[in-house]
Amino acid sequence: MPKTRIGLMWKQFFIYLLIIVLTSSFLVFFVSREINKYYVSNLKSNLENQALLVSEMVMNLISSGNTEKIDILAKEMGEKIGTRITIIRKDGLILGDSEEDPAKMENHATRPEVIQALHNEIGSKIRYSTTVKKEMLYVAIPVTENGEILGVVRTSSFVPEIQKSLGTINKKIISIAIILMIIALMFSILSSRLFTNPIKEIAFAADKIKNGDFTTRIFIKRKDELGELSDAINEMARELQKLFTDLNLEREELQVILSSMVEGLVVINGEGKIVLSNKNFLIIAGVLNEASIQSKHYWEVLQNDEINKLVKSVIQTGKTQTFEVQFGEKIYLVNGTPIPKTAGGKIIIVLHDITELKRVEKVKTDFVTNITHELKTPLTSIKGFVETLNEEAGANTKNQHFLEIIERNTDRLIDIVDDLLLLSNLEDKKQKLKIEKINLREMADNILKIFEIKFKEKKISFELDISDNVSNIKADPFWLEQLFINLIDNAIKYTDKGNVKIKIFSQGKDVQIEIQDSGIGIPKEHLSRIFERFYVVDKSRSHKLGGTGLGLSIVKHIIQLHNGKISVESKVGKGSKFIVILPKG
Ligand code: ADP
Repeated sequence: MPKTRIGLMWKQFFIYLLIIVLTSSFLVFFVSREINKYYVSNLKSNLENQALLVSEMVMNLISSGNTEKIDILAKEMGEKIGTRITIIRKDGLILGDSEEDPAKMENHATRPEVIQALHNEIGSKIRYSTTVKKEMLYVAIPVTENGEILGVVRTSSFVPEIQKSLGTINKKIISIAIILMIIALMFSILSSRLFTNPIKEIAFAADKIKNGDFTTRIFIKRKDELGELSDAINEMARELQKLFTDLNLEREELQVILSSMVEGLVVINGEGKIVLSNKNFLIIAGVLNEASIQSKHYWEVLQNDEINKLVKSVIQTGKTQTFEVQFGEKIYLVNGTPIPKTAGGKIIIVLHDITELKRVEKVKTDFVTNITHELKTPLTSIKGFVETLNEEAGANTKNQHFLEIIERNTDRLIDIVDDLLLLSNLEDKKQKLKIEKINLREMADNILKIFEIKFKEKKISFELDISDNVSNIKADPFWLEQLFINLIDNAIKYTDKGNVKIKIFSQGKDVQIEIQDSGIGIPKEHLSRIFERFYVVDKSRSHKLGGTGLGLSIVKHIIQLHNGKISVESKVGKGSKFIVILPKG
Protein backbone atom coordinates (compact mmCIF):
# COMPACT_ATOMS: atom_id res chain seq x y z
CA MET A 1 0.00 0.00 0.00
CA PRO A 2 1.36 3.41 -0.87
CA LYS A 3 0.53 5.22 2.38
CA THR A 4 3.47 5.57 4.79
CA ARG A 5 2.56 4.69 8.31
CA ILE A 6 3.88 2.91 11.36
CA GLY A 7 3.27 -0.75 10.71
CA LEU A 8 1.47 -3.02 13.14
CA MET A 9 4.76 -4.76 13.96
CA TRP A 10 6.34 -1.54 15.16
CA LYS A 11 3.20 -0.53 17.05
CA GLN A 12 3.31 -3.89 18.81
CA PHE A 13 7.02 -3.49 19.49
CA PHE A 14 6.54 -0.01 20.94
CA ILE A 15 3.86 -1.35 23.26
CA TYR A 16 6.17 -4.13 24.45
CA LEU A 17 8.95 -1.57 24.83
CA LEU A 18 6.76 0.65 26.93
CA ILE A 19 5.75 -2.26 29.17
CA ILE A 20 9.38 -3.35 29.57
CA VAL A 21 10.67 0.18 30.31
CA LEU A 22 7.90 0.77 32.83
CA THR A 23 8.36 -2.57 34.61
CA SER A 24 12.16 -2.19 34.63
CA SER A 25 11.89 1.32 36.11
CA PHE A 26 9.50 0.10 38.78
CA LEU A 27 11.74 -2.88 39.38
CA VAL A 28 14.84 -0.67 39.70
CA PHE A 29 12.96 1.65 42.04
CA PHE A 30 11.38 -0.98 44.30
CA VAL A 31 14.31 -3.41 44.30
CA SER A 32 16.68 -0.54 45.11
CA ARG A 33 14.43 0.60 47.91
CA GLU A 34 13.96 -2.87 49.37
CA ILE A 35 17.61 -3.82 49.03
CA ASN A 36 18.62 -0.48 50.46
CA LYS A 37 16.31 -1.07 53.42
CA TYR A 38 17.58 -4.60 53.88
CA TYR A 39 21.20 -3.56 53.50
CA VAL A 40 20.84 -0.70 55.94
CA SER A 41 19.03 -2.82 58.54
CA ASN A 42 21.61 -5.58 58.10
CA LEU A 43 24.45 -3.13 58.42
CA LYS A 44 22.73 -1.55 61.37
CA SER A 45 22.40 -4.81 63.28
CA ASN A 46 26.06 -5.68 62.47
CA LEU A 47 27.17 -2.30 63.71
CA GLU A 48 24.95 -2.75 66.75
CA ASN A 49 26.51 -6.13 67.60
CA GLN A 50 29.98 -4.77 67.12
CA ALA A 51 29.12 -1.77 69.28
CA LEU A 52 27.76 -4.08 71.99
CA LEU A 53 30.99 -6.10 71.87
CA VAL A 54 33.09 -2.97 72.13
CA SER A 55 30.90 -1.54 74.92
CA GLU A 56 31.59 -4.64 77.04
CA MET A 57 35.28 -4.12 76.47
CA VAL A 58 35.40 -0.41 77.21
CA MET A 59 32.98 -0.28 80.10
CA ASN A 60 35.68 -0.85 82.77
CA LEU A 61 38.18 1.37 81.02
CA ILE A 62 35.73 4.30 81.04
CA SER A 63 34.69 3.81 84.61
CA SER A 64 38.36 3.60 85.65
CA GLY A 65 39.21 6.66 83.50
CA ASN A 66 41.91 4.76 81.54
CA THR A 67 41.39 6.88 78.44
CA GLU A 68 44.68 6.15 76.57
CA LYS A 69 43.88 2.47 76.47
CA ILE A 70 40.45 3.25 75.11
CA ASP A 71 41.84 4.92 72.00
CA ILE A 72 44.35 2.08 71.40
CA LEU A 73 41.55 -0.47 71.80
CA ALA A 74 39.37 1.45 69.38
CA LYS A 75 42.15 1.52 66.78
CA GLU A 76 43.00 -2.20 67.17
CA MET A 77 39.37 -3.34 67.09
CA GLY A 78 38.50 -1.02 64.24
CA GLU A 79 41.27 -2.44 62.09
CA LYS A 80 40.26 -6.01 62.93
CA ILE A 81 36.56 -5.73 62.18
CA GLY A 82 36.90 -3.12 59.43
CA THR A 83 34.51 -0.74 61.09
CA ARG A 84 35.05 2.70 62.39
CA ILE A 85 34.65 2.72 66.16
CA THR A 86 34.26 5.86 68.25
CA ILE A 87 34.02 5.85 72.02
CA ILE A 88 32.44 8.95 73.49
CA ARG A 89 32.24 10.07 77.09
CA LYS A 90 28.80 10.97 78.29
CA ASP A 91 29.68 14.68 78.05
CA GLY A 92 30.44 14.24 74.36
CA LEU A 93 34.26 14.12 74.62
CA ILE A 94 35.87 11.60 72.29
CA LEU A 95 37.78 9.00 74.24
CA GLY A 96 38.86 6.92 71.32
CA ASP A 97 38.44 6.64 67.58
CA SER A 98 39.62 3.95 65.22
CA GLU A 99 40.48 6.36 62.44
CA GLU A 100 41.22 9.77 63.95
CA ASP A 101 43.11 11.30 66.79
CA PRO A 102 40.50 11.90 69.51
CA ALA A 103 42.21 15.06 70.59
CA LYS A 104 41.61 16.62 67.18
CA MET A 105 37.96 15.65 67.12
CA GLU A 106 35.22 17.99 68.18
CA ASN A 107 32.74 17.27 70.94
CA HIS A 108 30.13 14.74 69.76
CA ALA A 109 27.43 15.46 72.36
CA THR A 110 25.18 17.03 69.76
CA ARG A 111 25.35 14.17 67.26
CA PRO A 112 21.74 12.88 66.88
CA GLU A 113 22.69 9.17 67.28
CA VAL A 114 24.73 10.10 70.41
CA ILE A 115 21.81 12.04 71.89
CA GLN A 116 19.59 9.00 71.31
CA ALA A 117 22.11 6.66 72.97
CA LEU A 118 22.51 9.00 75.92
CA HIS A 119 18.72 8.60 76.31
CA ASN A 120 19.41 4.88 76.73
CA GLU A 121 18.22 4.00 73.27
CA ILE A 122 19.98 2.53 70.27
CA GLY A 123 20.69 5.54 68.09
CA SER A 124 21.21 5.30 64.38
CA LYS A 125 21.58 7.83 61.61
CA ILE A 126 22.79 8.10 58.06
CA ARG A 127 24.54 11.39 57.58
CA TYR A 128 27.53 13.11 56.19
CA SER A 129 30.57 12.75 58.38
CA THR A 130 32.56 15.98 58.70
CA THR A 131 35.47 13.96 60.04
CA VAL A 132 35.82 11.49 57.17
CA LYS A 133 33.88 13.64 54.70
CA LYS A 134 31.67 10.81 53.54
CA GLU A 135 28.01 9.63 53.84
CA MET A 136 27.93 7.20 56.75
CA LEU A 137 25.62 5.01 58.80
CA TYR A 138 26.12 5.58 62.47
CA VAL A 139 24.92 3.27 65.24
CA ALA A 140 25.36 4.37 68.81
CA ILE A 141 24.65 2.37 71.96
CA PRO A 142 24.95 3.49 75.54
CA VAL A 143 27.78 2.04 77.76
CA THR A 144 26.16 1.42 81.12
CA GLU A 145 27.36 0.20 84.46
CA ASN A 146 24.81 -0.61 87.09
CA GLY A 147 22.22 1.27 85.13
CA GLU A 148 24.32 4.39 84.85
CA ILE A 149 25.32 5.68 81.44
CA LEU A 150 29.08 6.12 81.26
CA GLY A 151 29.40 6.93 77.66
CA VAL A 152 28.52 5.87 74.14
CA VAL A 153 30.08 3.41 71.69
CA ARG A 154 29.48 4.40 68.13
CA THR A 155 30.17 2.18 65.17
CA SER A 156 29.85 3.42 61.62
CA SER A 157 30.21 2.27 58.08
CA PHE A 158 30.30 4.01 54.67
CA VAL A 159 26.96 4.17 52.92
CA PRO A 160 28.46 4.49 49.41
CA GLU A 161 29.30 0.85 49.74
CA ILE A 162 25.54 0.18 49.63
CA GLN A 163 25.07 2.36 46.54
CA LYS A 164 27.87 0.51 44.85
CA SER A 165 26.16 -2.84 45.44
CA LEU A 166 22.85 -1.41 44.34
CA GLY A 167 24.42 0.00 41.18
CA THR A 168 25.51 -3.51 40.26
CA ILE A 169 22.02 -4.89 40.88
CA ASN A 170 20.44 -2.09 38.82
CA LYS A 171 22.87 -2.69 36.00
CA LYS A 172 21.79 -6.34 36.03
CA ILE A 173 18.12 -5.35 35.92
CA ILE A 174 18.81 -3.00 32.99
CA SER A 175 20.69 -5.71 31.11
CA ILE A 176 17.75 -8.08 31.68
CA ALA A 177 15.44 -5.33 30.38
CA ILE A 178 17.58 -4.94 27.26
CA ILE A 179 17.52 -8.69 26.71
CA LEU A 180 13.73 -8.58 27.17
CA MET A 181 13.54 -5.78 24.59
CA ILE A 182 15.45 -7.85 22.06
CA ILE A 183 13.12 -10.77 22.81
CA ALA A 184 10.15 -8.40 22.41
CA LEU A 185 11.47 -7.23 19.04
CA MET A 186 11.88 -10.82 17.95
CA PHE A 187 8.43 -11.63 19.29
CA SER A 188 7.01 -8.66 17.39
CA ILE A 189 8.64 -9.85 14.18
CA LEU A 190 7.31 -13.33 14.83
CA SER A 191 3.81 -12.15 15.68
CA SER A 192 3.92 -9.91 12.64
CA ARG A 193 4.61 -13.03 10.60
CA LEU A 194 1.68 -14.68 12.31
CA PHE A 195 -0.82 -11.79 12.44
CA THR A 196 0.40 -8.67 10.72
CA ASN A 197 1.17 -10.27 7.40
CA PRO A 198 -2.32 -11.79 7.04
CA ILE A 199 -3.85 -8.51 8.21
CA LYS A 200 -1.74 -6.72 5.60
CA GLU A 201 -2.95 -9.16 2.99
CA ILE A 202 -6.58 -8.60 4.05
CA ALA A 203 -6.12 -4.81 4.02
CA PHE A 204 -4.53 -4.98 0.57
CA ALA A 205 -7.42 -7.07 -0.76
CA ALA A 206 -10.00 -4.78 0.85
CA ASP A 207 -8.31 -1.82 -0.82
CA LYS A 208 -8.49 -3.53 -4.21
CA ILE A 209 -12.18 -4.36 -3.68
CA LYS A 210 -12.79 -0.73 -2.71
CA ASN A 211 -11.26 0.30 -6.06
CA GLY A 212 -13.65 -1.96 -7.93
CA ASP A 213 -11.56 -5.10 -8.40
CA PHE A 214 -14.15 -7.63 -7.27
CA THR A 215 -12.12 -10.59 -8.58
CA THR A 216 -9.65 -10.20 -5.69
CA ARG A 217 -9.56 -13.10 -3.23
CA ILE A 218 -7.62 -13.64 0.00
CA PHE A 219 -5.81 -16.94 0.35
CA ILE A 220 -5.41 -17.36 4.09
CA LYS A 221 -6.05 -20.83 5.41
CA ARG A 222 -6.51 -20.30 9.14
CA LYS A 223 -9.09 -21.45 11.56
CA ASP A 224 -9.04 -18.38 13.78
CA GLU A 225 -10.79 -14.98 13.56
CA LEU A 226 -8.43 -13.86 10.77
CA GLY A 227 -9.47 -16.89 8.75
CA GLU A 228 -13.14 -16.05 9.36
CA LEU A 229 -12.53 -12.42 8.39
CA SER A 230 -10.83 -13.35 5.12
CA ASP A 231 -13.62 -15.83 4.33
CA ALA A 232 -16.19 -13.08 4.96
CA ILE A 233 -14.28 -10.64 2.73
CA ASN A 234 -14.02 -13.25 -0.02
CA GLU A 235 -17.77 -13.88 0.26
CA MET A 236 -18.44 -10.14 0.15
CA ALA A 237 -16.24 -9.76 -2.96
CA ARG A 238 -18.09 -12.65 -4.62
CA GLU A 239 -21.47 -11.07 -3.81
CA LEU A 240 -20.29 -7.67 -5.03
CA GLN A 241 -18.98 -9.22 -8.23
CA LYS A 242 -22.36 -10.87 -8.82
CA LEU A 243 -24.21 -7.68 -7.99
CA PHE A 244 -21.97 -5.69 -10.27
CA THR A 245 -22.41 -8.12 -13.15
CA ASP A 246 -26.20 -8.07 -12.65
CA LEU A 247 -26.14 -4.31 -12.50
CA ASN A 248 -24.09 -4.08 -15.69
CA LEU A 249 -26.50 -6.43 -17.40
CA GLU A 250 -29.44 -4.36 -16.22
CA ARG A 251 -27.73 -1.21 -17.39
CA GLU A 252 -27.06 -2.71 -20.80
CA GLU A 253 -30.67 -3.87 -20.96
CA LEU A 254 -31.82 -0.38 -20.04
CA GLN A 255 -29.57 1.10 -22.72
CA VAL A 256 -31.08 -1.23 -25.32
CA ILE A 257 -34.61 -0.37 -24.17
CA LEU A 258 -33.84 3.34 -24.16
CA SER A 259 -32.26 3.32 -27.58
CA SER A 260 -35.13 1.31 -29.04
CA MET A 261 -37.69 3.81 -27.75
CA VAL A 262 -39.28 5.96 -30.42
CA GLU A 263 -39.66 8.72 -27.86
CA GLY A 264 -36.85 11.02 -26.87
CA LEU A 265 -35.89 10.51 -23.23
CA VAL A 266 -33.75 12.63 -20.95
CA VAL A 267 -33.21 12.36 -17.21
CA ILE A 268 -32.17 15.47 -15.29
CA ASN A 269 -31.07 15.82 -11.70
CA GLY A 270 -32.21 18.31 -9.04
CA GLU A 271 -29.84 20.95 -10.44
CA GLY A 272 -31.26 20.53 -13.93
CA LYS A 273 -28.19 18.72 -15.24
CA ILE A 274 -28.55 15.92 -17.77
CA VAL A 275 -27.63 12.54 -16.31
CA LEU A 276 -29.05 10.20 -18.95
CA SER A 277 -30.47 10.47 -22.45
CA ASN A 278 -31.36 8.16 -25.32
CA LYS A 279 -30.54 8.18 -29.03
CA ASN A 280 -33.80 9.82 -30.06
CA PHE A 281 -33.33 12.62 -27.60
CA LEU A 282 -29.94 13.36 -29.15
CA ILE A 283 -31.63 13.56 -32.57
CA ILE A 284 -34.36 15.90 -31.21
CA ALA A 285 -31.76 18.09 -29.48
CA GLY A 286 -29.57 18.00 -32.60
CA VAL A 287 -26.43 16.80 -30.81
CA LEU A 288 -23.95 14.20 -31.97
CA ASN A 289 -23.30 12.13 -28.88
CA GLU A 290 -24.34 11.68 -25.29
CA ALA A 291 -20.94 12.71 -23.95
CA SER A 292 -21.31 16.19 -25.41
CA ILE A 293 -24.43 16.89 -23.33
CA GLN A 294 -23.60 14.89 -20.22
CA SER A 295 -23.61 17.11 -17.10
CA LYS A 296 -24.87 20.09 -19.10
CA HIS A 297 -27.98 21.92 -17.93
CA TYR A 298 -31.02 20.83 -19.89
CA TRP A 299 -31.78 24.42 -20.85
CA GLU A 300 -28.43 24.67 -22.62
CA VAL A 301 -29.48 21.73 -24.81
CA LEU A 302 -33.24 22.33 -25.12
CA GLN A 303 -33.80 26.02 -25.45
CA ASN A 304 -37.55 26.10 -25.00
CA ASP A 305 -39.75 28.07 -22.59
CA GLU A 306 -42.44 25.40 -22.46
CA ILE A 307 -39.94 22.78 -21.30
CA ASN A 308 -38.73 25.16 -18.57
CA LYS A 309 -42.35 25.64 -17.48
CA LEU A 310 -42.91 21.89 -17.47
CA VAL A 311 -39.85 21.22 -15.27
CA LYS A 312 -40.89 24.01 -12.89
CA SER A 313 -44.38 22.63 -12.68
CA VAL A 314 -43.09 19.08 -12.00
CA ILE A 315 -40.87 20.42 -9.19
CA GLN A 316 -43.70 22.51 -7.72
CA THR A 317 -46.40 19.84 -7.85
CA GLY A 318 -44.23 16.74 -7.42
CA LYS A 319 -46.53 15.11 -9.98
CA THR A 320 -46.30 14.07 -13.61
CA GLN A 321 -47.04 16.95 -15.98
CA THR A 322 -47.81 16.87 -19.68
CA PHE A 323 -47.24 19.77 -22.05
CA GLU A 324 -47.51 20.15 -25.79
CA VAL A 325 -44.29 21.68 -27.04
CA GLN A 326 -43.26 22.92 -30.45
CA PHE A 327 -39.63 22.51 -31.58
CA GLY A 328 -39.20 24.16 -34.96
CA GLU A 329 -41.43 22.25 -37.36
CA LYS A 330 -42.21 19.48 -34.91
CA ILE A 331 -44.76 19.15 -32.14
CA TYR A 332 -44.07 16.97 -29.13
CA LEU A 333 -46.20 15.76 -26.26
CA VAL A 334 -43.74 16.16 -23.40
CA ASN A 335 -44.16 14.23 -20.17
CA GLY A 336 -42.25 15.22 -17.05
CA THR A 337 -42.25 12.61 -14.27
CA PRO A 338 -40.58 13.16 -10.91
CA ILE A 339 -38.54 10.35 -9.39
CA PRO A 340 -39.11 10.38 -5.61
CA LYS A 341 -36.39 12.13 -3.55
CA THR A 342 -35.57 8.82 -1.87
CA ALA A 343 -34.74 7.37 -5.29
CA GLY A 344 -32.56 10.28 -6.38
CA GLY A 345 -34.96 13.20 -6.87
CA LYS A 346 -34.50 13.27 -10.63
CA ILE A 347 -36.98 14.12 -13.38
CA ILE A 348 -37.63 11.94 -16.41
CA ILE A 349 -38.64 13.91 -19.49
CA VAL A 350 -40.14 11.96 -22.39
CA LEU A 351 -40.73 13.68 -25.74
CA HIS A 352 -43.30 11.99 -27.93
CA ASP A 353 -43.43 13.19 -31.52
CA ILE A 354 -47.08 13.98 -32.32
CA THR A 355 -46.45 16.08 -35.40
CA GLU A 356 -48.10 13.52 -37.69
CA LEU A 357 -50.97 12.97 -35.29
CA LYS A 358 -51.53 16.70 -35.11
CA ARG A 359 -51.42 16.96 -38.89
CA VAL A 360 -54.02 14.21 -39.29
CA GLU A 361 -56.12 15.79 -36.57
CA LYS A 362 -55.92 19.12 -38.34
CA VAL A 363 -56.87 17.56 -41.67
CA LYS A 364 -59.83 15.96 -39.90
CA THR A 365 -61.02 19.14 -38.18
CA ASP A 366 -60.40 21.18 -41.34
CA PHE A 367 -62.45 18.65 -43.22
CA VAL A 368 -65.26 18.80 -40.65
CA THR A 369 -65.15 22.60 -40.58
CA ASN A 370 -65.16 22.82 -44.36
CA ILE A 371 -67.90 20.28 -44.78
CA THR A 372 -70.10 21.86 -42.10
CA HIS A 373 -69.61 25.26 -43.73
CA GLU A 374 -70.46 23.80 -47.09
CA LEU A 375 -73.52 22.01 -45.67
CA LYS A 376 -74.89 24.98 -43.80
CA THR A 377 -76.07 26.91 -46.91
CA PRO A 378 -77.77 24.04 -48.78
CA LEU A 379 -79.40 22.89 -45.55
CA THR A 380 -80.81 26.34 -44.85
CA SER A 381 -82.15 26.56 -48.38
CA ILE A 382 -83.69 23.04 -48.10
CA LYS A 383 -85.36 24.15 -44.88
CA GLY A 384 -86.68 27.27 -46.61
CA PHE A 385 -88.06 25.28 -49.54
CA VAL A 386 -89.62 22.68 -47.26
CA GLU A 387 -91.37 25.47 -45.35
CA THR A 388 -92.67 26.93 -48.62
CA LEU A 389 -93.80 23.51 -49.85
CA ASN A 390 -95.47 22.89 -46.52
CA GLU A 391 -97.50 26.04 -46.92
CA GLU A 392 -98.42 25.05 -50.47
CA ALA A 393 -99.19 21.43 -49.64
CA GLY A 394 -102.56 22.57 -48.30
CA ALA A 395 -104.92 19.84 -47.37
CA ASN A 396 -102.81 17.00 -48.77
CA THR A 397 -102.08 15.39 -45.45
CA LYS A 398 -99.94 12.66 -46.98
CA ASN A 399 -97.58 15.19 -48.58
CA GLN A 400 -97.64 17.24 -45.38
CA HIS A 401 -96.55 14.23 -43.39
CA PHE A 402 -93.60 13.63 -45.72
CA LEU A 403 -92.70 17.29 -45.66
CA GLU A 404 -92.75 17.29 -41.85
CA ILE A 405 -90.34 14.34 -41.83
CA ILE A 406 -88.04 16.21 -44.25
CA GLU A 407 -88.29 19.33 -42.07
CA ARG A 408 -87.54 17.46 -38.84
CA ASN A 409 -84.50 15.77 -40.33
CA THR A 410 -83.31 19.00 -41.89
CA ASP A 411 -83.58 20.64 -38.47
CA ARG A 412 -81.53 17.82 -36.96
CA LEU A 413 -78.89 18.19 -39.66
CA ILE A 414 -78.81 21.96 -39.06
CA ASP A 415 -78.41 21.33 -35.31
CA ILE A 416 -75.53 18.94 -35.94
CA VAL A 417 -73.90 21.39 -38.34
CA ASP A 418 -74.32 24.20 -35.79
CA ASP A 419 -72.83 22.11 -33.00
CA LEU A 420 -69.96 20.99 -35.23
CA LEU A 421 -69.28 24.61 -36.17
CA LEU A 422 -69.24 25.50 -32.47
CA LEU A 423 -66.80 22.66 -31.77
CA SER A 424 -64.47 23.56 -34.60
CA ASN A 425 -64.55 27.13 -33.38
CA LEU A 426 -63.56 25.93 -29.90
CA GLU A 427 -60.79 23.77 -31.29
CA ASP A 428 -59.39 26.52 -33.43
CA LYS A 429 -56.16 27.37 -31.61
CA LYS A 430 -55.92 30.76 -33.27
CA GLN A 431 -59.19 31.85 -31.78
CA LYS A 432 -58.68 33.35 -28.35
CA LEU A 433 -61.27 33.57 -25.57
CA LYS A 434 -62.76 36.97 -25.01
CA ILE A 435 -62.43 37.12 -21.24
CA GLU A 436 -64.73 39.52 -19.41
CA LYS A 437 -66.00 40.03 -15.90
CA ILE A 438 -69.23 38.10 -15.60
CA ASN A 439 -71.96 38.38 -13.01
CA LEU A 440 -72.97 34.74 -12.61
CA ARG A 441 -76.33 35.52 -10.98
CA GLU A 442 -77.36 37.73 -13.90
CA MET A 443 -76.20 35.20 -16.45
CA ALA A 444 -77.98 32.28 -14.75
CA ASP A 445 -81.22 34.32 -14.44
CA ASN A 446 -81.16 35.26 -18.12
CA ILE A 447 -80.51 31.71 -19.25
CA LEU A 448 -83.26 30.31 -17.06
CA LYS A 449 -85.63 32.77 -18.71
CA ILE A 450 -84.87 31.12 -22.08
CA PHE A 451 -85.87 27.76 -20.62
CA GLU A 452 -88.97 28.94 -18.71
CA ILE A 453 -91.39 27.72 -21.43
CA LYS A 454 -89.64 24.34 -21.68
CA PHE A 455 -89.86 23.87 -17.90
CA LYS A 456 -93.57 24.74 -18.00
CA GLU A 457 -94.22 22.41 -20.96
CA LYS A 458 -92.59 19.48 -19.18
CA LYS A 459 -94.05 20.49 -15.82
CA ILE A 460 -90.62 20.45 -14.20
CA SER A 461 -89.84 22.85 -11.41
CA PHE A 462 -86.48 24.59 -11.21
CA GLU A 463 -84.45 26.14 -8.46
CA LEU A 464 -81.51 28.51 -8.55
CA ASP A 465 -79.34 28.70 -5.48
CA ILE A 466 -76.40 31.10 -5.64
CA SER A 467 -74.34 31.69 -2.49
CA ASP A 468 -73.77 35.25 -1.42
CA ASN A 469 -70.01 34.71 -1.47
CA VAL A 470 -70.04 34.21 -5.24
CA SER A 471 -68.71 37.36 -6.86
CA ASN A 472 -67.92 38.00 -10.48
CA ILE A 473 -65.77 35.59 -12.42
CA LYS A 474 -63.59 36.16 -15.43
CA ALA A 475 -64.60 34.09 -18.44
CA ASP A 476 -65.73 34.29 -22.05
CA PRO A 477 -69.46 35.21 -21.77
CA PHE A 478 -70.45 33.57 -25.06
CA TRP A 479 -68.89 30.21 -24.19
CA LEU A 480 -70.00 30.30 -20.57
CA GLU A 481 -73.55 30.85 -21.76
CA GLN A 482 -73.18 27.87 -24.14
CA LEU A 483 -72.00 25.78 -21.22
CA PHE A 484 -75.07 26.66 -19.12
CA ILE A 485 -77.43 26.20 -22.07
CA ASN A 486 -76.09 22.75 -22.96
CA LEU A 487 -76.17 21.44 -19.39
CA ILE A 488 -79.63 22.87 -18.56
CA ASP A 489 -80.98 21.72 -21.93
CA ASN A 490 -79.77 18.17 -21.17
CA ALA A 491 -81.23 18.29 -17.66
CA ILE A 492 -84.66 19.20 -19.09
CA LYS A 493 -84.34 16.76 -22.01
CA TYR A 494 -83.57 13.77 -19.82
CA THR A 495 -86.02 14.55 -17.00
CA ASP A 496 -89.69 13.67 -17.25
CA LYS A 497 -90.82 14.75 -13.83
CA GLY A 498 -89.42 16.38 -10.74
CA ASN A 499 -87.02 19.26 -10.74
CA VAL A 500 -83.78 20.79 -11.92
CA LYS A 501 -81.55 22.49 -9.34
CA ILE A 502 -78.75 24.86 -10.13
CA LYS A 503 -76.37 25.56 -7.29
CA ILE A 504 -73.48 27.99 -7.54
CA PHE A 505 -71.03 28.61 -4.72
CA SER A 506 -67.51 29.78 -4.07
CA GLN A 507 -64.69 27.28 -3.33
CA GLY A 508 -61.46 29.12 -2.56
CA LYS A 509 -60.06 30.38 -5.84
CA ASP A 510 -62.76 28.55 -7.81
CA VAL A 511 -66.46 28.70 -8.40
CA GLN A 512 -68.44 25.48 -8.31
CA ILE A 513 -71.53 25.13 -10.49
CA GLU A 514 -73.79 22.13 -9.95
CA ILE A 515 -76.65 21.26 -12.30
CA GLN A 516 -78.75 18.52 -10.80
CA ASP A 517 -81.85 16.86 -12.21
CA SER A 518 -84.23 14.15 -11.08
CA GLY A 519 -84.28 12.52 -14.52
CA ILE A 520 -83.46 9.16 -16.02
CA GLY A 521 -79.80 9.14 -14.94
CA ILE A 522 -76.86 7.64 -16.78
CA PRO A 523 -75.77 3.99 -16.39
CA LYS A 524 -72.36 3.71 -14.75
CA GLU A 525 -70.63 2.10 -17.73
CA HIS A 526 -71.45 5.13 -19.94
CA LEU A 527 -70.29 7.81 -17.52
CA SER A 528 -66.68 7.91 -18.72
CA ARG A 529 -67.70 8.26 -22.38
CA ILE A 530 -70.55 10.80 -22.44
CA PHE A 531 -68.13 13.67 -23.09
CA GLU A 532 -66.93 12.08 -26.34
CA ARG A 533 -68.14 13.45 -29.66
CA PHE A 534 -71.40 11.90 -30.91
CA TYR A 535 -71.59 9.62 -27.87
CA VAL A 536 -75.17 9.04 -26.80
CA VAL A 537 -76.45 6.56 -24.25
CA ASP A 538 -79.75 5.81 -25.88
CA LYS A 539 -79.66 6.63 -29.60
CA SER A 540 -83.38 6.53 -30.32
CA ARG A 541 -84.26 8.60 -27.27
CA SER A 542 -81.58 11.16 -28.00
CA HIS A 543 -82.68 11.45 -31.67
CA LYS A 544 -86.29 11.76 -30.65
CA LEU A 545 -85.35 14.57 -28.29
CA GLY A 546 -83.29 16.28 -30.97
CA GLY A 547 -79.92 15.45 -29.43
CA THR A 548 -76.74 15.60 -31.51
CA GLY A 549 -74.34 13.83 -29.13
CA LEU A 550 -72.13 16.91 -29.31
CA GLY A 551 -73.49 18.99 -26.39
CA LEU A 552 -71.29 17.57 -23.64
CA SER A 553 -68.16 17.54 -25.79
CA ILE A 554 -68.74 21.26 -26.42
CA VAL A 555 -69.13 21.73 -22.63
CA LYS A 556 -65.89 19.84 -21.98
CA HIS A 557 -63.99 21.97 -24.50
CA ILE A 558 -65.32 25.19 -23.00
CA ILE A 559 -64.22 24.06 -19.53
CA GLN A 560 -60.76 23.05 -20.75
CA LEU A 561 -60.27 26.45 -22.38
CA HIS A 562 -61.13 28.05 -19.03
CA ASN A 563 -58.76 25.71 -17.13
CA GLY A 564 -61.68 24.19 -15.27
CA LYS A 565 -62.90 20.70 -14.48
CA ILE A 566 -66.11 18.79 -15.01
CA SER A 567 -67.37 15.63 -13.36
CA VAL A 568 -70.66 13.81 -13.20
CA GLU A 569 -72.50 11.80 -10.57
CA SER A 570 -75.52 9.84 -11.67
CA LYS A 571 -77.92 7.09 -10.64
CA VAL A 572 -80.26 5.43 -13.10
CA GLY A 573 -83.86 6.44 -12.37
CA LYS A 574 -82.78 8.96 -9.72
CA GLY A 575 -81.08 11.68 -11.72
CA SER A 576 -77.73 13.20 -12.58
CA LYS A 577 -75.51 15.92 -11.18
CA PHE A 578 -72.98 17.71 -13.38
CA ILE A 579 -70.29 19.47 -11.30
CA VAL A 580 -68.32 22.23 -13.00
CA ILE A 581 -65.35 23.89 -11.31
CA LEU A 582 -64.09 27.11 -12.88
CA PRO A 583 -61.28 29.33 -11.66
CA LYS A 584 -62.54 32.79 -10.71
CA GLY A 585 -59.78 34.15 -12.94
P1 ADP B 1 -77.15 14.85 -26.66
O1 ADP B 1 -77.22 15.91 -27.68
O2 ADP B 1 -77.49 13.49 -27.16
O3 ADP B 1 -77.84 15.20 -25.41
P2 ADP B 1 -74.79 15.27 -25.15
O4 ADP B 1 -73.35 15.27 -25.57
O5 ADP B 1 -75.32 16.51 -24.61
O6 ADP B 1 -75.60 14.72 -26.35
O7 ADP B 1 -74.95 14.12 -24.10
C1 ADP B 1 -74.45 12.85 -24.36
C2 ADP B 1 -75.29 11.82 -23.74
O8 ADP B 1 -75.21 11.87 -22.32
C3 ADP B 1 -76.75 11.97 -24.02
O9 ADP B 1 -77.14 11.34 -25.21
C4 ADP B 1 -77.42 11.30 -22.82
O10 ADP B 1 -77.54 9.93 -23.02
C5 ADP B 1 -76.43 11.56 -21.71
N1 ADP B 1 -76.83 12.69 -20.87
C6 ADP B 1 -76.39 13.94 -20.92
N2 ADP B 1 -76.94 14.70 -19.95
C7 ADP B 1 -77.81 13.90 -19.27
C8 ADP B 1 -78.70 14.08 -18.17
N3 ADP B 1 -78.80 15.26 -17.55
N4 ADP B 1 -79.40 13.02 -17.75
C9 ADP B 1 -79.27 11.83 -18.36
N5 ADP B 1 -78.46 11.60 -19.40
C10 ADP B 1 -77.73 12.62 -19.86
